[in-house]
Amino acid sequence: MTQVVLLGAAGRMGRALVQALSDAGDLTLKACVERREVPAPPDGSVPWGHDLAEFVAPRDVVIDFSTAAAAVQAAGLCAQRGAGLVSGTTGLDESQEAAFRAAARATPVVRAANFSLGVLALRRALAAVLEAVPAHWDVEIVERHHRAKRDAPSGTALELARQAARRRGYPESALRAGRSGLTGSRPQAEIGIHALRGGSWVGDHTVVLAGVGESIELRHVAQDRAAFAHGALAAARFVATAAPGFYTLEEVVGATATAT
Ligand code: NAD
Repeated sequence: MTQVVLLGAAGRMGRALVQALSDAGDLTLKACVERREVPAPPDGSVPWGHDLAEFVAPRDVVIDFSTAAAAVQAAGLCAQRGAGLVSGTTGLDESQEAAFRAAARATPVVRAANFSLGVLALRRALAAVLEAVPAHWDVEIVERHHRAKRDAPSGTALELARQAARRRGYPESALRAGRSGLTGSRPQAEIGIHALRGGSWVGDHTVVLAGVGESIELRHVAQDRAAFAHGALAAARFVATAAPGFYTLEEVVGATATAT
């Protein structure tokens, strides 16, 4: 039975994962780690603490949905202890992302800006539509998230934009977050990303492909964080037996499909 240590356990995603783990017969929630003070759960069956190092043992799997600083620390600790890592925290800069690649030399790591299988399907649909429409069609991305989200644009919007940019042969500088003022006409090699914040949206991404006189929209709506939690648990099962390395959700799903 794989033992899971949850980092950021009292957060929105942490709570969804506690729920999903309670329904998973093959994964055991070993401990919950949370920076904030939270009342101990009434049944006391799972220990809660502030320090990940207190709980992580070799071959455990840490699931991280916390903050950039905590995620980077978790990567170092998992590498040191030989524990697998599933990390969904977004908003990391390049040097912070590099910490995961370094950790992956010693232990299996799955990192994804979006653990929903629906977003994986959206990425595949985008690849097919980009192939099918003329190369001069404009690509723009609109994302909506709840008012408490810390980073903008979302990690998923950035990944979708990078996917489109790679397909078109545009440089990273073609990504443009928002527009204002006298911007002039839209350059061909540009991908606009627009972040809406408000209310309780869990996660909503639309890719707009606009030609002259017509357009296509591909949209994914996450209505419940269970969508991300189930993908993260699939990744936890994968890292429990994987060799050290850096894996994407595509690889997790590919391995699961091959095994069944
Ligand atoms: P949240 O703020 O509700 O939860 C984060 C929790 O982490 C908080 O309870 C916070 O106190 C805790 N935390 C912060 N630092 C900590 C530390 N050092 N030790 C222990 N706990 C610590 O945020 P959320 O909505 O649950 O999202 C968390 C992260 O996951 C964000 O970066 C978000 O963008 C990302 N996210 C990713 C996906 C995905 O599929 N990859 C889906 C949803 C959210």
